[in-house]
Amino acid sequence: MPGIIDSHVHVNEPGRTEWEGFRTATRAAAAGGVTTIADMPLNSIPPTTTLVNLEAKARAAYAKTFVDVAFWGGVVPGNRHELRSLIDAGVVGFKCFLCPSGVDEFPHVSADDVRETLLELLPTKTVLAFHAEYERNEKTTRSTDNPELYDTFLRTRPDLMELDAVKLICDWCTKYKFRCHIVHLSSAECLTLINDAKARGAPLTVETCYHYLILTAEEIPAGSTEFKCCPPIRRKSNREQLWHGVKNGTLDMIVSDHSPCVPELKTRGNFLTAWGGISSLQFGLPLIWTAARTRGTPLSEISKLLSSQPARLCGLEDRKGNLSVGMDADFVIWDPEESLTVEADDIHYKNKLTPYQGRNLFGRVIATVLRGRYVFKDGKICDEPAGRLLLNADILKAIETR
Ligand SMILES: [Zn+2]
Repeated sequence: MPGIIDSHVHVNEPGRTEWEGFRTATRAAAAGGVTTIADMPLNSIPPTTTLVNLEAKARAAYAKTFVDVAFWGGVVPGNRHELRSLIDAGVVGFKCFLCPSGVDEFPHVSADDVRETLLELLPTKTVLAFHAEYERNEKTTRSTDNPELYDTFLRTRPDLMELDAVKLICDWCTKYKFRCHIVHLSSAECLTLINDAKARGAPLTVETCYHYLILTAEEIPAGSTEFKCCPPIRRKSNREQLWHGVKNGTLDMIVSDHSPCVPELKTRGNFLTAWGGISSLQFGLPLIWTAARTRGTPLSEISKLLSSQPARLCGLEDRKGNLSVGMDADFVIWDPEESLTVEADDIHYKNKLTPYQGRNLFGRVIATVLRGRYVFKDGKICDEPAGRLLLNADILKAIETR
């Protein structure tokens, strides 16, 4: 199949390299059949919100990556004048938050900020991606609620937070006819709104993540904060509706939202204070295949969800995500019938904590080929980092000659 394109990965280098780095993240990608990742603009320091900051990121990544790496830029209050130069440098699009992002250096935007940003970006072909949760000023937990129970956390991020945000995004996308993308959709209650906006001709795409299609709130043990992410994993009935949305095309792609941290930030067992983010970059293909094979989803559909649609989102469809003449020779060779168990020893990303620990999955990756070269074969990652940074020539030349 074409190599997997994971358009939602937080690498965190520079600045929080102890959480994840380019070397470890792209080795995990190679071992998982992922041939391109797109790095999110936040959780590294500095965040990718200016051209100077993008150069710092690219310098940190240069000559260290085992698969190709593309970059998202970020929209924060006050950086509108930076966006054109980031597009010229080759970012795949921009991401913003409609609620606090979890890190101080990446503040969220107001509705006015979004409208001004859309007007600024309107003449361009880029895409604006949204973290779609809108915060309400209501207290949803009581001081007597047990913070070690997953339900206590789930009550703090109700479906309404996503519904409010998705409604705003659908309205903007319909009104401005500008490409908008919703990252990591969790609440199936939003599917009707999304369908309606698409039917009205809004150029909207939506992703969901492995964890929303595989895990359920009912199965999360007390204190197991490796399951915490925002928006949250919801109930089983929600998961089945998301699968329906995948099958009928309301949801366009499936990505990891790989967002690790150091164990100290996760293991206190308190769902209200733990870092929100799930690590799974290496296991997307077996995770989705294991769930999809029992639901009758064909391989061609899985390839579209994991490769060609994310490539299109990132503007890479002329090079990546399909098997055809003239494209990069990026492949994953895998055995759908062979099984594996997720064990810490086999994990290549930096912090091994994952909710999939011990899980038996179908679909073993045998080899990963990047531009015609093996970068992973029979359990071994190649010695030399053969990945490229998918940025424009000028910025690459500036980094190379430094
Ligand atoms: Zn994310």
